[in-house]
Amino acid sequence: MAKVSLVDEIDDGKVVWEKSLNILKLDLGQAVYKSWFSKVNFDKYESNIVTLIVPTRFVRDWISTHFEKKILRAWKAIDPAIRKVNFIIRSDAVAVTTEHTSSVDIKVKNVVEDNFLADEFNQPTDSKEVNLFASKFDPRFTFDNFVVGPPNQLAYAAARSVAESTKAKPGSNPLFLYGGVGLGKTHLMHAVAWYIRNNHPTRKVVYISAEKFMYQFIKSLRSKNIMDFKEGLRSVDVLMVDDVQFICGKESTQEEFFHTLNTLIDNNKQIIISCDRSPSDLENMEERIKSRLGWGLVADIHNTTYELRLGILESKLAMIDTHVPRDVIEFLASKITSNIRELEGALNKVIAHSNLIGRKVTLEVTQEILRDLIRSNEKAITIEHIQKKIAEKYNIKISDMSSSRRSRAIARPRQIAMYLAKNLTQKSLADIGKKFGGKDHTTVMHAIKKIEQLITEDKDFAEDIKLLTRVIEC
Ligand code: ADP
Ligand code: MG
Repeated sequence: MAKVSLVDEIDDGKVVWEKSLNILKLDLGQAVYKSWFSKVNFDKYESNIVTLIVPTRFVRDWISTHFEKKILRAWKAIDPAIRKVNFIIRSDAVAVTTEHTSSVDIKVKNVVEDNFLADEFNQPTDSKEVNLFASKFDPRFTFDNFVVGPPNQLAYAAARSVAESTKAKPGSNPLFLYGGVGLGKTHLMHAVAWYIRNNHPTRKVVYISAEKFMYQFIKSLRSKNIMDFKEGLRSVDVLMVDDVQFICGKESTQEEFFHTLNTLIDNNKQIIISCDRSPSDLENMEERIKSRLGWGLVADIHNTTYELRLGILESKLAMIDTHVPRDVIEFLASKITSNIRELEGALNKVIAHSNLIGRKVTLEVTQEILRDLIRSNEKAITIEHIQKKIAEKYNIKISDMSSSRRSRAIARPRQIAMYLAKNLTQKSLADIGKKFGGKDHTTVMHAIKKIEQLITEDKDFAEDIKLLTRVIEC
């Protein structure tokens, strides 16, 4: 059956567009939103196609490449029947936003106009390295917008001191930032870039994702422009390579990366690397590269604490000048624990929802909207949690989980914990072994086989395991 549009009148299309703009504002952040969507006007909504008016061809191309999906998604949240977005170019299109601008907006906006957009619009054509490696920096990712707490203070301080220095910092070169997904690594790197651009504009900064590094490298090999690639990267003052785990196992890219690293460090140029794990945990990375990566300062970002999550929510709300009741903020901070990206997403979802239905955000509404997300956050079971529960149940010490004592009263619960760790988490055998006092993966494998065998042989034991699983999942 064809989807019935909720929007009958063309006039209603305008209302939906205005509501979609609210969602886009949350999704993109105030600065990006203003740069692009203040130039867009609603024209009509007919046959489930919305037509928008943009002032120039450039704006149309940019918006349709970068934001079309987001526009569709925002509109769909209100009217699922939409099929397509069309653009028409009309140069007399005027700004639609006449909103009050807070001081935060002004600060971010200046940066956007001076740097972000300038980069995109006026890409110089006479400088190869800028063309090859130019990347846009997210205007939200500044030091000012980074909330500091015990889990990230080392990484923050290190990034800040590298940014403030006008030369490479010998003790922090390379600066190696590592931590799980969504904990702020890219944010810190962009913050360094913003800081240097604003305070030491003559220093040349290049930020590149490891994937783009690889792509550019291979592309330049194919098109025989390898010298441009090399020179482009080696003529910078600060080189940042994000998510370096992606070049694991890629031999020739690793080789090139290593040479770039060496050349720059030897020439006293600053390197910043980010990664989802520590240098020594990079499997399929050559030893000499790992050791080179660990030479400078290695700073890890730990999982967030409740206080940090609370601080981040407060700071985001201040940025968008929105009020959300205290109990809702506390609820979000206590329930969305996986990472900051997800925490932000949850906050945005709650605000967007309340904007749409025109009701205040309350705890009940929040619980309802985020039900699935919260369930998945709660499902994230850790090995430590399993060890704790099993140790409690069998009345042994948690440290026995890591010991090599072989008496049955200790070895059996340990095997059960390993078995459950395999079944209830995504961890590899090697990772599990590490958490049990550095045992190797064959020991873990053996434990799992043993428990599987007992489950098939002994009904009561099988029941116990089921019960334990339930206790751990609660
Ligand atoms: P990573 O690169 O480590 O995967 P990101 O840097 O992309 O993570 O961060 C994910 C999101 O969380 C971003 O929107 C970022 O602005 C936000 N974020 C992370 N850490 C902080 C922080 N300490 N304060 C404010 N926002 C943060
Ligand atoms: Mg990142």
